[in-house]
Amino acid sequence: MNYISTRNKSVKVTSASAIAQGISAEGGLFVPDTFPRFSEDDFNTLAAMDYKGRAKFVLKYFLDDFTDGEIDYCVNGAYTGSFDSDQPAPVSIVGKNINILELWHGPTCAFKDLALQLLPYLLTTSAKKVNGGKKSVILVATSGDTGKAALEGFKDVENTEILVFYPSHGVSPMQKLQMDSQKGNNVHVCAIDGNFDDAQTGVKKIFTDADVKKRLSDNGMLFSSANSINWGRLVPQIVYYISCYCDIKDSQNTENGFNVVVPTGNFGNILAAYYAKKIGVPINRLICASNANNVLTDFIKTGKYNRNREFYTTISPSMDILISSNLERMLFELCGNNDKEVAKLQQSLWETGEFTVSGKVKQAFSEIFWAGYCNDDETLGTIGKYFRDYGYLCDTHTAVALNVYGQYLQDTGDDRPAVIASTASPYKFAKSVLSAVSDKKAETEFDNVRLLSEVTGTDIPAPIKALENAEVRFNRVCGKDEMLKAVYDAVGIK
Ligand SMILES: *Cc1c(COP(=O)(O)O)cnc(C)c1O
Repeated sequence: MNYISTRNKSVKVTSASAIAQGISAEGGLFVPDTFPRFSEDDFNTLAAMDYKGRAKFVLKYFLDDFTDGEIDYCVNGAYTGSFDSDQPAPVSIVGKNINILELWHGPTCAFKDLALQLLPYLLTTSAKKVNGGKKSVILVATSGDTGKAALEGFKDVENTEILVFYPSHGVSPMQKLQMDSQKGNNVHVCAIDGNFDDAQTGVKKIFTDADVKKRLSDNGMLFSSANSINWGRLVPQIVYYISCYCDIKDSQNTENGFNVVVPTGNFGNILAAYYAKKIGVPINRLICASNANNVLTDFIKTGKYNRNREFYTTISPSMDILISSNLERMLFELCGNNDKEVAKLQQSLWETGEFTVSGKVKQAFSEIFWAGYCNDDETLGTIGKYFRDYGYLCDTHTAVALNVYGQYLQDTGDDRPAVIASTASPYKFAKSVLSAVSDKKAETEFDNVRLLSEVTGTDIPAPIKALENAEVRFNRVCGKDEMLKAVYDAVGIK
């Protein structure tokens, strides 16, 4: 299997090269040039395996330049001991047929762990194959959860250095503390004076700057990305949708398929669900759920993407995004692999902040996706409702998905089984979640955590508990224009 760039498909590389580079030189994203197609027999085989077995089975198709031994090493390293049980992605059934795919049982309590526990193994294995031993410098722009998950994944990984940028006012107190207290000898954290899009744009700029690249190379280093633009982030995410199907296929009636609802920001998680559908998982509709930053809802409904709008800071901060990077891969897919068309749309987005797809492409989007959004009050209302009605406690992001799923049911009456991607532990957003289920209030973040546990009778995840006495190691805030300087400082280039 080769990987081609969404902006120039004559660029063709191995999976190791795609993962080591992160992004193609002309700015495009790597996508597989072919996809496997699994039969019902394959799914039955997979259903009999544990999570690691399922991951190895799927990875072998997408990383066909890795040896079996390398894949075993990567998967075993990622999923042994770092999650709270042997099943990193368990399903909780709520009501008759709402299947909540809980993706937050890892070290940072967000779904990013599923990919970012594996990525360091994939990246260092890839780098050995293609970079001739150069040190990988990982730059991350985060709206909160990616940063911490990447830091945990890469801490003390040999021959890597990692630097995370987060918007100084755009992350929750818990997310901030998680990052600022990160341990490890190769980790660096910097808040920036701006929002997530500023951080992401800054990182992309540094990445594609030829002079910077040369300077790093002269110092025996090479950039790579842990953001979901990196293929190594997406492939582990395909695994859990396949795994989920294996887990529900006997108990739920999936004969006519099932719907998947994803609280969406950068479009990575929902794209992975689309790829699972393409491989053969009987997914009917992909439901794209947004908060007040509803640029994707508008795009899916109208075919026009327009980032020129107010940016809202919400109680689901990991979805406060106006430029969804991975939409580019979906555009490539639905434009029939037309790289020139995708390059044109992205150029337009860069220059004017908007683009409009053809009627045909819009139609293709609306056949696969349904989209909706809700505001903060509706999000809190949904947390309260699910806790009262089912005794199920969810976080603010998952609540956006559940709320939009309710809208979908009302609009279409389509009551096939649904899988809801549950992307974070409620304890990461304790203050908001507590306010949705109780009138009680506490002063500090950790008092809120304890109160939430008392009021709901749920357990505080161990990684959150451990943060209370963690020492803050990082407190640098830099301007948007000082990001490159921060990079050079982190890697020790004068
Ligand atoms: C990252 C994140 C999202 C958004 O996922 P994308 O892949 O960027 O669409 C949603 N919820 C939580 C909790 C997240 O951390």
